[in-house]
Amino acid sequence: MGKTPTIRSWRIFYDRLLKNDEYRSSIDPSRYGPYHTYREQFVRVDRLLKRYPRNITAIPIGTSVGGEPIWVFRVSNTEEAAEPRARFLVLSLLHAIEFVGAEANLALLQRFVANMNKNPALANREVHFLPILNPDGYLEVERELAKGRARFHRGNRRGVDLNRNFGAFFSRRYLWHRVLRKIYDPGPRPFSEPETAALRSHLLEHRFDFALSLHSFGARFLFPYGGKREKSRIDSWYRETARALIDQQPHYGYKAGQLGRAFPLFLVRGTEADYLHETFGTRTLVVEIGRNGPRVLNPRNLLAPFPLFNPKDLPHEIDNLMDPFFFFLSLNREKRG
Ligand SMILES: [Zn+2]
Repeated sequence: MGKTPTIRSWRIFYDRLLKNDEYRSSIDPSRYGPYHTYREQFVRVDRLLKRYPRNITAIPIGTSVGGEPIWVFRVSNTEEAAEPRARFLVLSLLHAIEFVGAEANLALLQRFVANMNKNPALANREVHFLPILNPDGYLEVERELAKGRARFHRGNRRGVDLNRNFGAFFSRRYLWHRVLRKIYDPGPRPFSEPETAALRSHLLEHRFDFALSLHSFGARFLFPYGGKREKSRIDSWYRETARALIDQQPHYGYKAGQLGRAFPLFLVRGTEADYLHETFGTRTLVVEIGRNGPRVLNPRNLLAPFPLFNPKDLPHEIDNLMDPFFFFLSLNREKRG
């Protein structure tokens, strides 16, 4: 894909975002914390695109059910045409209500592009930031928040849980997918949804060495397998890397563990982490941002769960992740054990 059509499609998208009234929601910071709306997120990105035009490329990778483009922002500080020392994916907002993931993703993009040429450990890398895989879900939640509601939304426009729709351990018949179909609807078949299909074609085009997928909540660094209880071949690499990330956390330490062992009778089938790990050998950590604690039992949060998934003290939670994420982005392909 050439540079000119990419820039043109970004401008068309961005102009529509600024002019069109349907993107004019607002989120009350005194009630929810300093969360950005869909429009505000891309205003942030546009500023970065203007400030670092040579380092950031906006790539449209597909279109959601509702017709929104899905964007990847590729940041590179490698020499033209040179193969980077490592290629990373930072992915978020598969689940509609988990705004904190998109916030952490764009905070990292902002800090990475500002620092990558100052820190020798960050030389020669390429990072693909995909902040919002489920744009329809994001818009649905922010419109609810603007009306003073915050009902639970997880899936895409068709109610499919995008993080059960990937082609690794996919199952429609799995017990929990049947019992809790309203929450964990995996869709009719792997990659039936345009959002996951868009990501798959991007993954087929770019081979990622490492990936972070940002979710909430639980304060955990989790790793494959999710679809089965057996350990992966590189279980010790995952454990050591998660441990190193926890050591870098300034405020409080997350826990680490295998996705498929987090709960005794509950596997996660059809997820991004297993698909990346199994199909491409991409070393993938799932980050469950934020503590839950007693807030889980507050009935107000059960009826209007936005605060449960999105800590009000957003800067504190983001700050607790930036050093670990920078450490992750300094990993090199040749150091893979
Ligand atoms: Zn999630």
